[in-house]
Amino acid sequence: MPDKTIIRKALLTWYRKEKRDLPWRNTGDPYHIWVSEMMLQQTQVKTVIPYYQRWLETFPTVEDLAEAQSSRVLKLWEGLGYYSRARNFHAAARIVVREFGGKVPDSAEAILQLPGIGRYTAGAILSIAYDRRVPVLDGNVKRVLSRLFLIPGNRQIAGVEAVLWNKAEELLPRNHPGDFNQALMELGATVCLPKNPDCPLCPLSRVCRARKENAQAQFPASAKTTPAQKIQVSAAVIQKGGKTFIQQRPHKGLMGGLWEFPGGKLQDSESPEECIRREIREELGVDIRVGEKLMTVRHSYTQFRVTLHVFRCTLNNGRLRPTQCEQWRWVPPEDLEDYPFPAANARIVKFLKASQSAPLRGVKMKSRQE
Ligand code: SF4
Repeated sequence: MPDKTIIRKALLTWYRKEKRDLPWRNTGDPYHIWVSEMMLQQTQVKTVIPYYQRWLETFPTVEDLAEAQSSRVLKLWEGLGYYSRARNFHAAARIVVREFGGKVPDSAEAILQLPGIGRYTAGAILSIAYDRRVPVLDGNVKRVLSRLFLIPGNRQIAGVEAVLWNKAEELLPRNHPGDFNQALMELGATVCLPKNPDCPLCPLSRVCRARKENAQAQFPASAKTTPAQKIQVSAAVIQKGGKTFIQQRPHKGLMGGLWEFPGGKLQDSESPEECIRREIREELGVDIRVGEKLMTVRHSYTQFRVTLHVFRCTLNNGRLRPTQCEQWRWVPPEDLEDYPFPAANARIVKFLKASQSAPLRGVKMKSRQE
């Protein structure tokens, strides 16, 4: 094994000189560090920065977050995806206030009891905020360690994961473990990239085994990926007396607690119009007239590629009997933006707002992966 002391010294010296100036690196507040770690999971730094700033303007302390309405929390998270992170964070903040007097726990035992905090997040908060000698292992660290030590096998297999955690722990210095953990993550994010790692610029190039054997491309071994499933969905913009119908998804489950336009997945050989009629009958217990097609939204989730067909609809006779939502409302156009929507639905809200001032037709939109 390359000398631990050399690795620690080289990495810490490099980090202090080369680290990016990120907003969460200018604070020692454990709650602020927690915010950044919750947002950074599965999400790029440049996406997170404005969310992080808005979040702390709205909820500067863990008490502010604990007291907030869940719809306000979800609204601030809108567009970041993986909404269970926001719901768990909110629930965890309430526990911190109720059971820890508002102090983010500083022991692994206590912090790991909080919803949404796993081994990685616990390690990041404890080492960065409290200087505890606790390792982290995210995708970037896994890549650096597997190349540095030529750790074979698929990094998503449990045995390999355990070897990597052990390496991360062994390497951690007693002094400045938080800086060291951040240095490993920073190296993976900026130099030891998945494709074309910039080895000549790497502080570990002299001791890296992958570089020595010219085997960077083989480490870490890639996991088999299943191609994303393509699904077709229809949604109805039902309007009455100048207001639009929206409903809240059940709190538990995918995108729980967010609001949406009613609709659902196309079944075999169904047209988008037939789908929307059937879905509204099943979800709301009424018949509708399907009017003009307003737009098509394409959106990528981790496992799905969704094509969303959006129609303007009006109610035939009958009273709404929504059965599959937490609650529902008729909302005037200027208030729609107050509600948290999943990204594809947020595009519809944007479209409706724009079409108030200039009628738009037949729009096709693409949204980013969530
Ligand atoms: S030398 Fe290259 S492969 Fe090795 S850790 Fe540095 S960037 Fe990664």
